[in-house]
Amino acid sequence: MHEAGIIYNVLKVAEETARKQNGQKILKLYLRVGSMSGVIPEALQFAFEAMRTDTMAKEAQLKIENVSASCWCEDCKIEYVPDELGFLCPKCGGGNIKLQKGRELELVSIDYC
Ligand SMILES: [Zn+2]
Repeated sequence: MHEAGIIYNVLKVAEETARKQNGQKILKLYLRVGSMSGVIPEALQFAFEAMRTDTMAKEAQLKIENVSASCWCEDCKIEYVPDELGFLCPKCGGGNIKLQKGRELELVSIDYC
């Protein structure tokens, strides 16, 4: 499971960070997850709850901030939200575009004490 690997790394980084600052336990983890990241937030929560036992984060909460996708058309200079059918620009129908937001998958911050 993809999400389990992500949570494994997140927990590792969080523990290392807390330990360096003499933290005793992790209280909260904040993740930012884009809608185009290919990761399902519910699956992350599930993996987190299964994997946090035996770590410094065993009583921690996982807070997920969802980032919706947004594209930019280089020709029309507009920003738009892609729909599920495609990424093409809704104004010109062109493909000279880039995905600006939505691919995020990052650990934003950690609360520990
Ligand atoms: Zn366009």
